[in-house]
Order: sequence, then C-alpha cells, then structure tokens
Amino acid sequence: MTKALLSRGPKEDLEVVDIVLGETGPNQVRVAVRAAGVCHSDLSMVNGTVSPSFPLVLGHEASGVVAEVGPAVTRVAVGDHVVLNWSPPCRVCWFCRKGEPWLCQQNAGVASRPGGQLSDGTPTNLTLGIGAFAEEVLVDERAVISIAKEVPLAEAALIGCAVLTGFGAVRHTAAVQPGDSVAVIGLGGVGLAVVEASRLVGADPVIAVDRSTGKQPLAIAAGATHFIASSATTTRQIRALTEGRGVEHSFECVGRSATIRDAWQSARRGGSCIVVGMGGADDQVQLSALEIFHYARTLRSSVYGSADPDVDVPQLAELALSKQLDLGALISHRVELDDVESAFERMYRGEGARTLVVFD
Ligand SMILES: [Zn+2]
Ligand SMILES: [Zn+2]
Repeated sequence: MTKALLSRGPKEDLEVVDIVLGETGPNQVRVAVRAAGVCHSDLSMVNGTVSPSFPLVLGHEASGVVAEVGPAVTRVAVGDHVVLNWSPPCRVCWFCRKGEPWLCQQNAGVASRPGGQLSDGTPTNLTLGIGAFAEEVLVDERAVISIAKEVPLAEAALIGCAVLTGFGAVRHTAAVQPGDSVAVIGLGGVGLAVVEASRLVGADPVIAVDRSTGKQPLAIAAGATHFIASSATTTRQIRALTEGRGVEHSFECVGRSATIRDAWQSARRGGSCIVVGMGGADDQVQLSALEIFHYARTLRSSVYGSADPDVDVPQLAELALSKQLDLGALISHRVELDDVESAFERMYRGEGARTLVVFD
C-alpha cells in the first residue's frame, strides 16, 4: 500500500488514499519519492484545461531513491538518487531519430497513463505516467535519471519539470547569448527558472514581469535586473528599458492569450517570443497580418525546454551542486501530501514560487 493524492474527477476535492502499485515489471523501477513539486500542470489536470483519465494520482515533478528494480533494468540500481522524467523519449520514432526527443510521438498528447489501483480494485491513472504525489512510484526505467548523491535530493525534484523547462527554453529554444536582453512574463516555478537561466547565460537586462508585486523579491533573488508589476503599460515599460526597441527574447510563462500578446509586443523587431506556458484550446491569440510581416519576429513554443532530459538533467544537477543553479530560490513552501490544495490556492492568488511536497 502506498499513500497517494487522488482526484476522482475535474473540480472534485483531492483525497489522500491508499493505492496498490503492483509487482515491479522486468523493465520497471520502484522509487521511494523524496519530494514532488506542485506544478501548474497538476492544476490543469483537475480544472478542465486538459482531459486526463480519472481517478487520477496527481504529481509529475519528483525526485527519490530507487527502492527496487526489475530483472531487465540496466539504467539504475537500488539506492540510486533519481529525478523523474515525465516525457521519456522512445528513441525510435520519427521525432526521436530527428533529434527532437521532447516531441517524441509516444508521449504526444498523453496526460495520464493507467497504473495502480485503489484498495477496492478500481484501476487508477497516473499523471503523465508518473503520479508523483505518492510515497512510491512505479515507472519504466526510461523515466528515471540518476543524479550525484551530493545534490540536495528534495530540491532536485524541480529539475524534472520547472528547471528543465525554464533552462531549456533559454538555452535550447531561444539560445540566449551573453548580453541579450530578456523579458520573462509570469513568475511561477518555470518563470523564475527562466530568470535564473538568463542570469546564468549573462543576459542583461533580465526584466521580470508578474501581476503580483509579491513576486518582486523572488524575481530579484533569482537574478532579475528589473521587476515590472504587469498592467496596461507593461510592454511600454519594457521598451523603455531597451532604448525603445523591445527585448531580444521574451518568454511567456503563463499560458494565456493576453500575456502571449504582451510577450509578443515586448520583443524587438526581429526578436523572438517564446511561449512556455500551456494554455487552453478555446483561448485565441490575435495577430494581424500586417504586424506579423512588419515586426519580423519569431514566435515559438518551448515544449519541455526543447531538451533531452537524459543529457540535461545530470548537467542541471551538476549546476545545482556547484551552486550556479539556486534551486532554493525557486521554492517558497514545503508541505505534506494532504496540503497540495493550499498550493493550488496560492497559484490562483498569484502568490509564492514552487511548493514542494516533502516525504520523510
Ligand atoms: Zn510540470
Ligand atoms: Zn520517440
């Protein structure tokens, strides 16, 4: 039996229940979860933005210790410290062979996968095949990536989603260069990771934008050179900080048409606008034919940081070990399993950075 946080359907109260994960298969790994971050995508699973199968164990951004391995497993051994990867590439599909494992066909559009059951035998589903808000997870070996044991294990949970996504958006999708100007709109865990990554690359200025002024100290701690409380004049203020041009790269880390418009209008002529936030299917973004031509901007999305987790996760763990990456600056709250709803409420109110669910 494993304690896990379950949703029985959209907008229903979350419950801590006992689930049975079953036997460890030949290629599977059982991980004792050390910590799991509360990501905006967990909220999207239960508020109607995406449509997973229910009942659903939430959580996908996690770290832990390998507790058991199947007989065919070669990637890890019992006792290894690991970060969970919610989009393990198959390495054989067209996209993987093209060198774009973040677009792996086997993971496209997958919000949940079957796994585990309730004590009465009802089958459960796991968010993104992980279901990390649980004392234990049982996953394919491709979904675990070993990190050095010296890396603080609880904080390393964030490397599996927010940090990989934020750093990847900066390093891979946008390929930000030293001295480039950057604006980051939306300062949740991912947005703050974009700020940190931009600072580490040597971008200047790094302009952080959020609707909540309470995010200012978090933004500055993560390395922002400027903070703007978003308003009708956001893009004008960003242009004022860049000699009237707009920034080289703008990052939208919310997933809404209004903030995508702000990010688009914040980029210079010929600059790039990177959409990192995942928005809804019914939220239309309007761009006129004239402005698309006139501004000569690039509009791209960044899926899982355009990263190869098997390469990037160990590198990011090394950056955390050398303190160039400050995982602590991305975490504002630590809670127990039954308190994830408080993190969702903070998201709605626009407060705080990452909330980490910590297991003893
Ligand atoms: Zn996530
Ligand atoms: Zn693939």
